[in-house]
Amino acid sequence: SCGICVNKCPFDAIEIINLPQELTDEPVHRYGENAFALYGLPSPAEGQVTGILGPNGIGKTTAVRILADEMQPNLGRYGEEPNWDEILDEYRGTALQEYLEQMRDGDVTVARKPQYVDRIPDQFDGKARQLLDQTDERGDLDYLIERTGIGPVVDNHIDDLSGGELQRVALVATLARDADFYFLDEITPYLDIGQRMTAARLIRELAEDEDRSMLVVEHDLAILDLLADNINVAYGTPGAFGIITPPKSTKKGINEYLSGYLENENMRVRQTEIEFEEHAPRTASAGDVVIEYPELQKSYGDGEFSLDVEAGTIRESEVLGVVGPNGIGKSTFAKMLAGRLEPTAGKIDTSLDIAYKPQYIEIDQPMRVDAFLASITDDFGSSYWNTEIAQPLQLESVMEQQLTDLSGGERQRVAIAACLSKDADLYLLDEPSAHLDVEQRVMATSAIRRYAENHDATAMVIDHDIYMIDLLADRLLVFDGEPAKNGHAAPPQGMREGMNEFLQNLDITFRRDERTSRPRINKPDSQLDREQKNAGEYYYAP
Ligand code: ADP
Ligand code: ADP
Repeated sequence: SCGICVNKCPFDAIEIINLPQELTDEPVHRYGENAFALYGLPSPAEGQVTGILGPNGIGKTTAVRILADEMQPNLGRYGEEPNWDEILDEYRGTALQEYLEQMRDGDVTVARKPQYVDRIPDQFDGKARQLLDQTDERGDLDYLIERTGIGPVVDNHIDDLSGGELQRVALVATLARDADFYFLDEITPYLDIGQRMTAARLIRELAEDEDRSMLVVEHDLAILDLLADNINVAYGTPGAFGIITPPKSTKKGINEYLSGYLENENMRVRQTEIEFEEHAPRTASAGDVVIEYPELQKSYGDGEFSLDVEAGTIRESEVLGVVGPNGIGKSTFAKMLAGRLEPTAGKIDTSLDIAYKPQYIEIDQPMRVDAFLASITDDFGSSYWNTEIAQPLQLESVMEQQLTDLSGGERQRVAIAACLSKDADLYLLDEPSAHLDVEQRVMATSAIRRYAENHDATAMVIDHDIYMIDLLADRLLVFDGEPAKNGHAAPPQGMREGMNEFLQNLDITFRRDERTSRPRINKPDSQLDREQKNAGEYYYAP
């Protein structure tokens, strides 16, 4: 810069690029000397869904805890407890003033959905119905149970619920409350696309019809796009400091975030842009066949659930995306490929080595991360392993931690690393996106892709994040049927046909954002939606 300007070149002569630096103003909160500091707070508003978008460790939960009245902000003066008058002085004239006044007066009631639903069974002992009954403050419980489809499991013990069932029980328990403010920390992990869309609609309904304030943290951008009225972007240096921007329109917020550059703030938050290919879905790779499986059939018990798989082939160096609703037999198929489950009919050549990352990660031995990974591969610590696995999965910072102390996103990255570190012909990853932030999803995606290419191996990735599947997959394996009753898998097909088949089952179409080419869900029955359905182009519309 020429030194005249501070933030923006008045002559528009050059683009000034600021990398995030810690601000010199007072933070909202600092945890201790040289500890994490948060600047700025999101402003929830009545009748609106406000989103927070940013990496893990940037202070989103800290902001939510402050607004949920779980902790009082210290304005950077740790050790001291500033009183409410001082805090209010800071926010006089801002959108938050009224909210904070209500909070001071004890007039704010808050309902909050926790991020890690897997932990609910440790905190509650009983049937799902007992947990839900305590929350029925608006008389909407039965409606919410019906809409989310958890009716068949509400009389089950909490311990026996799957992750996707727990996620929906937690959502219902939160939305059933009669609160002024609802905070929802990640709604999509373990849910399929249909369930994600239902969750988004229920949250919007409560905001719009009942004039409530909703604040959501969400990393599935297609869903955040659908869900939020506006977005506060969070940036900074994870673990050190975080800055929360004033609200932006949802579209602008997501686009700027993907581009890595925040316009109003004149701030580059990432060196590279996250780009979506506009037209051509990747053409199927022409590698050698790794596995050829015949028609397969599997039923459980007395045929309560049965799965039919059409014969197919999987090729070397390709990433095969696997999509379909929950409870349709995707994991069953994966387990048959991995030789962990015998098909009822048909036979699989199990001479293949398969490395498997399950959806629910159970790595809780009392062991350090480095020791755990070193026990899996002799390559641990080699420069090759560091470049291919440790760096893209951002493992350096967690190497010395105990497996049991890891956050959800950290466990996920360690589990992906453990899977890729094995010597195998086929890497099977079930929902690698769960609990990862947007950057981590993109980096994990490229790590998985590169790994498959460089090892002449194949990766099969089951995921419900449509952006991740779009960035990741060469071909698609589409499952359909009736969840918990019967499932059917078509042979692997090209991305265009595969997306069309999959989205036709869901009855949703995507358009492309004109600036970034990112896929956006069309409004049902909008002109584009109807045109694309008529043309049979559900995803890669010309
Ligand atoms: P996010 O929700 O964006 O992942 P958090 O608000 O949970 O981020 O955490 C932001 C940072 O604050 C992290 O580096 C975390 O380690 C730190 N932090 C969170 N709680 C405390 C605490 N009670 N004391 C000290 N540091 C904390
Ligand atoms: P997805 O991976 O698509 O969510 P799954 O393959 O896990 O689906 O399960 C398909 C159906 O089979 C579900 O209804 C599930 O409850 C049932 N199921 C899975 N494993 C078993 C089992 N070991 N015994 C009986 N039923 C099972």
